[in-house]
Amino acid sequence: MSATELRLVLLGCPGAGKGTQAKVLCERYGMTHLSTGDCFRAESAAGSALGKKVADYMKRGVLVPDEVVNEVVASKLDALKGGWLLDGFPRTLDQAQGLDRYLRSAGAKIDIVLSIAMKPEDIVRRLTSRRSCACGEVYNLLSRPPRVEGVCDKCGKPLLQREDDTEATVRKRLMVYEDLTSPLVAYYRSGGVFTEVDGALPVADVTKGLCAAVDALAGSPTES
Ligand code: AMP
Repeated sequence: MSATELRLVLLGCPGAGKGTQAKVLCERYGMTHLSTGDCFRAESAAGSALGKKVADYMKRGVLVPDEVVNEVVASKLDALKGGWLLDGFPRTLDQAQGLDRYLRSAGAKIDIVLSIAMKPEDIVRRLTSRRSCACGEVYNLLSRPPRVEGVCDKCGKPLLQREDDTEATVRKRLMVYEDLTSPLVAYYRSGGVFTEVDGALPVADVTKGLCAAVDALAGSPTES
């Protein structure tokens, strides 16, 4: 199987590093990165009808209703050719089952589920220190600070804190994760190719663990 054709789901609680790892994996293997959170933030910033619908849920740190998310993801997947990596979706059993139904009807399946495991208590510190730039670059004041305080290394724009990265909202998001999303680990663990990597490891080691699982399935991109 060619790595660019892979269909991959990346699981992990908020702040586990899914976005960072997704970018690296997609660059390395060439599949398309689909982040529902990024998609909703872009829609919200653009003031579209969808953006207006999802903005309040996001601000409160609760999930956007399944039927809205399922429809958005199905239309994005319809438009894609080749492989993809889903980041931040599915987040509920209903979404996972919706995805299964969608793939069955398309004669396709998920090739591998990667999970980045982290303890909730490690997350609060990590997320409240996260800063991002409109250009997509993400920093962490503790582990990856920008060279100049408050300014993006790449484009020089001011860095922002996500509205939902305040401590109260992070705690809310973690509760939502525990209740609604963590059951997906058992769902996928029993269902096929599943690999879990310790998200408390340094970023490069997490990448190594995730890539080893993908390479075992599809071969290293440098080998092909
Ligand atoms: P993220 O960037 O993945 O942490 O997502 C930010 C916010 O977008 C979440 O807290 C939810 O409000 C919303 N969101 C993103 N993905 C989903 C999803 N699969 N289901 C429901 N809500 C989502």
